[in-house]
Amino acid sequence: MPASTPTITLVIPVFNEEAVLPELFARLGALFDGGQGCVWRALLVDDGSRDRSAALIRAQAVRDPRFALIELSRNFGFQSALSAGLAHAATADAVVTMDADLQDPPEVIPQLVAAWRAGAEIVRATRRTRRERGLRRLGFDLFHRVFGSLSDYPIEANTGTFGLLGRAAVEAFNALPERHRFFPGLRAWIGFPTADVLYDRQERAAGVPQQTFRRLVRYGLDGVFSFSHLPLRLLTYAGLFVAFMGFAGGLFFVLWRLLGFENSQQGFTTLVTLVLFLGGVQLIGIGVLGEYLGRVYDEVKRRPNFILKNPPRASGAPGPATTRD
Ligand code: UDP
Ligand code: MG
Repeated sequence: MPASTPTITLVIPVFNEEAVLPELFARLGALFDGGQGCVWRALLVDDGSRDRSAALIRAQAVRDPRFALIELSRNFGFQSALSAGLAHAATADAVVTMDADLQDPPEVIPQLVAAWRAGAEIVRATRRTRRERGLRRLGFDLFHRVFGSLSDYPIEANTGTFGLLGRAAVEAFNALPERHRFFPGLRAWIGFPTADVLYDRQERAAGVPQQTFRRLVRYGLDGVFSFSHLPLRLLTYAGLFVAFMGFAGGLFFVLWRLLGFENSQQGFTTLVTLVLFLGGVQLIGIGVLGEYLGRVYDEVKRRPNFILKNPPRASGAPGPATTRD
């Protein structure tokens, strides 16, 4: 149950976003000033930006103590930056997860909070419209179709990172041990009463997308492989099918000869086709096994998801470092 004046922390991964940060601060400031009966915090996670993002956030934190910065030691990627933010937001009553580029409009946040106050532990902001076009759009659509049919914990096609987690959900998320994190999938996996709030996704306010297409593909694969064993099962089925066909074919040829027919075909083309086809299927099989094995390897190494640039001193006050430069 939400406290009477709950603390809401916004966790915002930032990577080379100096162009949008001033507008982000202004719009968040306006939201915070509105109050809504909440204590507001913004926790910006600098994911190893190479521009002035960290300095801008640090200056903002000095001007307005509702803003805080944590810095990662290098660029760890969006999912790790998000994990870092959630790990440092454990004292909040609810955490809003959002992008820095204002594609997730801060003006929707009061609706997320309202849905949480009405009893939902997890609130997903669901896009009424999607602005991506072309290859990215195709990729997103394809991913959601494949993921939806593979995963035991399907995610809504029009939801992304933007949303709210209550404290119990944040703790559940922080307790997850895995390295390969696919936030929307894990959010579906942890359960809890979930509500949806519709919104219109905006164009990026300034700057260029920081997620490369390659990275998005990798997240997509993480989503599929960490939420489903179906690719492995499909291999088993394919193997059974091919073995059955081989057996039936062999039987057919034996009977053919026993019945006295001559086996006169040359069969070179058939042979080449079969060898290439089966070779291909086997390589795909090894590739799929490799995807799982590589993930197992990453998990057993147990490297942390992120490293802080300025870890708090053990003796000093815990919490994000906002002053050092
Ligand atoms: N981001 C990050 N680390 C990265 C890439 C991106 O923290 O390595 C942040 C970025 O600053 C933004 C959010 O993740 O706040 C979403 O990135 P972007 O807008 O580039 O992705 P898209 O909207 O295309 O999914
Ligand atoms: Mg964006």
